[in-house]
Amino acid sequence: MELNVANTVKWMTLTNEKIQENKTYLTELDQAIGDGDHGINMARGFQEVEAKITATDYDNVSDLLKDVSMTLLSKVGGAAGPLYGTAFLKLSMAVKGSETLDFPKFKSGLAEALAGIKQRGKAEKGEKTLVDVWEPLVDYLNGQNSFNAAGFESVAKEAMEATKDFEAKKGRAAYLRERSIGHLDPGSVSSFYIFSSLVEVLKEGD
Ligand code: ADP
Ligand code: MG
Repeated sequence: MELNVANTVKWMTLTNEKIQENKTYLTELDQAIGDGDHGINMARGFQEVEAKITATDYDNVSDLLKDVSMTLLSKVGGAAGPLYGTAFLKLSMAVKGSETLDFPKFKSGLAEALAGIKQRGKAEKGEKTLVDVWEPLVDYLNGQNSFNAAGFESVAKEAMEATKDFEAKKGRAAYLRERSIGHLDPGSVSSFYIFSSLVEVLKEGD
């Protein structure tokens, strides 16, 4: 795999497309176990990400990811904004100075991003949060020597679907206790859009 400036811009553009298409769905998921703003928050944030990165010239992927991070931090709001902002900031820092990302860099960058999410949100796996998608992906990559698009996507999908059976222990959904069971975690669904977009973009380059 190689993530360069051009396909990273595509990755974010495609993510924005999926988020805009599923804005109402994400909002409905958050209405069930939260306050119903996740779709609105993410749609606003990724719209701004696309606007920012398509209007800027980048020498390297690290700088691009840093702008993604800063935009998400300032525009998404809610719990998800700082968490996604931190994830992309850690990813950017882990690959600082890199013009492009190969598989080992992506792998260590994603591990750093997960560590950032966990440090900021204090959540562990199984608590119905973003961690439930990011951690299985990091674990999966640890056992791989090259990027397997189909494998990566199925791990992301299964991890997202598994959140339905978890009881929320962190975030707003935790107020519902066992009543949060039976609903997908909205943030895990938006994370799935991020990762399935990445897979689509990398498949194009094959
Ligand atoms: P808010 O909960 O403030 O309304 P959003 O609706 O935008 O923010 O985002 C909710 C999502 O944020 C949840 O579905 C969950 O995936 C994620 N989330 C909430 N709290 C945490 C946490 N402590 N750690 C990781 N992810 C979290
Ligand atoms: Mg919400």
